[in-house]
Amino acid sequence: MHLIDSHCHLDFSIFDLDRDQILSRCNDLGIKSLIIPAVTVSSWQRLLSVCAQSKVLHPALGLHPMFMQEHKPEHIDHLKDSVTQHKRTLVAIGEIGLDFYLPDHDKQAQTVLFTEQLKIAQDTELPVLLHVRKAHDQTVSCLKKHPVNGGIVHAFNGSMQQADHYQKLGFLFGVGGAITHPNATRLRSLMAQLPLSSLVLETDSPDMPIANMIGTRNSPENIPKILATLAELRSETAEEIALITTQNCQRLIKL
Ligand SMILES: [Zn+2]
Repeated sequence: MHLIDSHCHLDFSIFDLDRDQILSRCNDLGIKSLIIPAVTVSSWQRLLSVCAQSKVLHPALGLHPMFMQEHKPEHIDHLKDSVTQHKRTLVAIGEIGLDFYLPDHDKQAQTVLFTEQLKIAQDTELPVLLHVRKAHDQTVSCLKKHPVNGGIVHAFNGSMQQADHYQKLGFLFGVGGAITHPNATRLRSLMAQLPLSSLVLETDSPDMPIANMIGTRNSPENIPKILATLAELRSETAEEIALITTQNCQRLIKL
């Protein structure tokens, strides 16, 4: 079995002591590729060097909307330069997007930052990894103005109608540990209904713990548990879901 964790922050220092062991257990579990999105400029160098140590780790660079205070206007130029410099290893621009769930969020500043990064994705023909909360309609309208080579809506939890808009723009949806929580009824029914051809698996480790593990560090080793839950919710078998979600990811992202 070849599984992919399409969204995992394995570069974070919380994994420094046992990253190699985690990767070795991932290999045993069939998790053969992990996509590592960035959050701020200060983390890029470290992320790239962690990814350079293993063929299964694939880096993305970008400026995350949850860290607006840390981003400076010149970071956009920095991103352009870094993307050019690391073009051979980068698999996407991310994670980027709009987060209107945050208290005191500045819609205008987030939209400018997001748009500038979409232009970089457009110029480099790289797909994008999206972080979106309470802003799917605004995100779709930005994507229509600045079309990119598709991408993944990480931890998607919008409506079927919003999903439809994203799909028309070439986007896939990241399914993570949130579906393992029995009370996540709406999300579970959404993930049962979306076409399998639009789904990819993700953990968002160390965040978004699976059911019964709240308060602990999440790990890419939980991908098989997410897969098993998805198979319970859907009509396809776990084997089919593993195969198709991996193919979906590979179709979009050069791993
Ligand atoms: Zn993330």
